[in-house]
Amino acid sequence: MSIEKTYIQYGVPSNWAHDYELIGISTSTFRQTSKKNLFEKYNIRKSQIDFVKNCLVRQPINENVVLKLLENSRFVCCLCKGQKSDAFILHHIIEYSLTKDNKYSNLAVLCPNDHDLAHRHGVALTNKITEQQIKEAKKNWETQVKKENNKAALNKPIRGKIKN
Ligand SMILES: [Zn+2]
Repeated sequence: MSIEKTYIQYGVPSNWAHDYELIGISTSTFRQTSKKNLFEKYNIRKSQIDFVKNCLVRQPINENVVLKLLENSRFVCCLCKGQKSDAFILHHIIEYSLTKDNKYSNLAVLCPNDHDLAHRHGVALTNKITEQQIKEAKKNWETQVKKENNKAALNKPIRGKIKN
């Protein structure tokens, strides 16, 4: 299991996970290192440190669930279809702290931008993305991806030589 994939299982944004892989800091080192050292020794931004430390106290999402979610959504946000960012986060539709629910049904692939919007609390309702909207977007996007995948599979030229 790569460092990057492990962070993703904990709900850390994929672009940060990629950076941590490059720095070579594992999830257990991140967990055990003080905020001060993470900032001074590893040059990790303070805004990231709090968020990631919080993610790392959860149970990681099962590897197969992660893979299925990402494949079914083509590794992009189900709300903007990757238009806002290539990076993604595995988002808990109903907050993890409330249910500790890591099941497929409670997870959706979002970009960091839409993830922020989904977590806006106490802001005018018009600026917030609701649980229901995410569930519907996930369902619709997965259906579309499936259709596109089937189409692509049908259009694929047949490869390989006929052997005598
Ligand atoms: Zn998005």
